Amino acid sequence: MQGPDHLRRVQLIFQNPYDSLNPRHTVAETLEQPLRLYFGLSGQALRDRSAEILERVRLGAHFLDRLPSQLSGGEKQRIAIGCAFAANPDLVLCDEVTSALDVSVQAAVLDLLNALKHKQGTTYVFVSQDLAVVKALSDRVAVLYQGRLCEIGPSDRVYARPSHPYTEVLLGAILEPDPDTAPRLSADDVVERAPPERGCPFQRRCPRKIGDICDTLMPPWRAASTDHAIRCHHEIDALKPVQRPGGSG
Ligand code: SF4
Repeated sequence: MQGPDHLRRVQLIFQNPYDSLNPRHTVAETLEQPLRLYFGLSGQALRDRSAEILERVRLGAHFLDRLPSQLSGGEKQRIAIGCAFAANPDLVLCDEVTSALDVSVQAAVLDLLNALKHKQGTTYVFVSQDLAVVKALSDRVAVLYQGRLCEIGPSDRVYARPSHPYTEVLLGAILEPDPDTAPRLSADDVVERAPPERGCPFQRRCPRKIGDICDTLMPPWRAASTDHAIRCHHEIDALKPVQRPGGSG
């Protein structure tokens, strides 16, 4: 019996490939599970399809009989990606999928994810605290603070011109220095264990805080454009990025 189609269409890739693969299953056994479940494959067809998937994630058929203990971190994550794509999904949830990998391996995994996205037309919901990784892969970005959405918009616009104070602080901390346009807003480095009970989630650290209204009322959504919005009590026009001294803008 084949698995329900709605389960096939949404797949997951987890943060840590060291934990997400069963240490007792060979690569073939891991890849065969979704192929049996969703497409009812068996026998040689199953083996051939598993080998095809390994090619697609830039490994090879010679990996089929290996155990996870015989794989590097990057190879394990490619198997996890192959397992997700074996289901031929419409949507893949990627939870910090590069954060457990060496920096040298991250770029190769991101390149693979990008290639698979374009080849198969798959959508990713890509969760990461690494802003450079998000920028490399995303078309749209949703910025959360304390689990609450504060800005959502096209990736290129949010990175070039962050509008919410938290996004500006976040990007100001990592962007390359740019004498004209780089934001340099900063916030106190306070550890927040829980969001405030009322008002704006960013109220305790916001360098642009207006006053009591931020402490008491949840800010409204404000449209920066038809597909870009922030949640703040400031009017959009009042939230121009802070310029470096001597900047032209
Ligand atoms: S609502 Fe107030 S505290 Fe929240 S981001 Fe806007 S200015 Fe800052």
